[in-house]
Amino acid sequence: MDLASVLILLIVMGAAAFFITRFMGGPRLICTRCDGTGHVDEKWADPSKPGGWHKLEGKCPKCKGKGKV
Ligand SMILES: [Zn+2]
Repeated sequence: MDLASVLILLIVMGAAAFFITRFMGGPRLICTRCDGTGHVDEKWADPSKPGGWHKLEGKCPKCKGKGKV
């Protein structure tokens, strides 16, 4: 088996794994912002906001509280 065949095989396997997890009821991606909890508690310096702080507590705006995206 030459290098091109190995690469094609890897791509096919990667695509198959992607579609299996996507369409066969595999685990969905957990929200990276709230780590799957659906709730966020964020505070960091943000000079563009009044008071100089960005604050966010409660429902995660990225996944809308579901914990998954
Ligand atoms: Zn989230």
